[in-house]
Amino acid sequence: MHRQLPRFRGGTVAVALSGGKDSSVALRLAHRYFDRRPTVRLVAVTVDEGIAGYRPGTVEAARTLAGSLQVEHRVVRVQDAVGTTIDREATDRDAPPCSYCGVWRRQLLNRAAREEGADVLVLGFNLDDLAQTVLMNLVRGDLDRLARMAPHRVRQPGLIPRVAPLADVPEREVYLYARLAGLPFDHAECPYAGRALRNRFREVVWDLEEAQPGTRQSLLTTHARLVDLLLREEGSGAPARCRACGEPSSGELCRACEFLASRPASTEAPEVP
Ligand code: SF4
Repeated sequence: MHRQLPRFRGGTVAVALSGGKDSSVALRLAHRYFDRRPTVRLVAVTVDEGIAGYRPGTVEAARTLAGSLQVEHRVVRVQDAVGTTIDREATDRDAPPCSYCGVWRRQLLNRAAREEGADVLVLGFNLDDLAQTVLMNLVRGDLDRLARMAPHRVRQPGLIPRVAPLADVPEREVYLYARLAGLPFDHAECPYAGRALRNRFREVVWDLEEAQPGTRQSLLTTHARLVDLLLREEGSGAPARCRACGEPSSGELCRACEFLASRPASTEAPEVP
């Protein structure tokens, strides 16, 4: 935490809290780190995507943890903000649910953090998550997304800077910490997780790590060096604004609004905000 926020003396810190092990550990660490600083306000934000049989349990776990730490807790529902749910979209669309679910969640987290006046948004990404994401973006040749990945070193307009204090911690160690600390996290797996492309990358990164220990850390080092080069070449790469919702966007429409606009013709499309 200290390495990514070296000069943070006071303000509001939002923590993305899903109720799973990673974000629960991130909240617990943020709470321990900032607990004795009266100048820092901590607020946990949970996005409820509307996934029956999965999200209600994790929201409850998030509520329990935030309550036990006496941290303010805000729940944002995709249904309220976007006018639909992931369950409904998964029925209507062929695309893997993670493709739009992740986009909406990131946008709602950013918006909620901004509304809370947050100076920074803490994410629970661990070493495995980030190594997979780096590899996915490299394989896609998506330098823009590589440059936008957390942890952020440069403030971009409209985007609350994100930090990832577990970036160096393997997933197994995060799990171990969560268990040893007795955190009330939820073990459930999202029913759509099996359709995510990320699963392939998880296996690849794991195989590579076994064959060549240190692969995950090397991917993160590569990412950091690429970001250095990109920042030098293109500046902060500050995003434009989506013409529909005003959120940061690399195109005319942000991906969240693109997904809304691309709902199948047979379904009643919620209005693009
Ligand atoms: S696994 Fe995919 S659909 Fe499920 S909560 Fe995560 S991003 Fe959303």
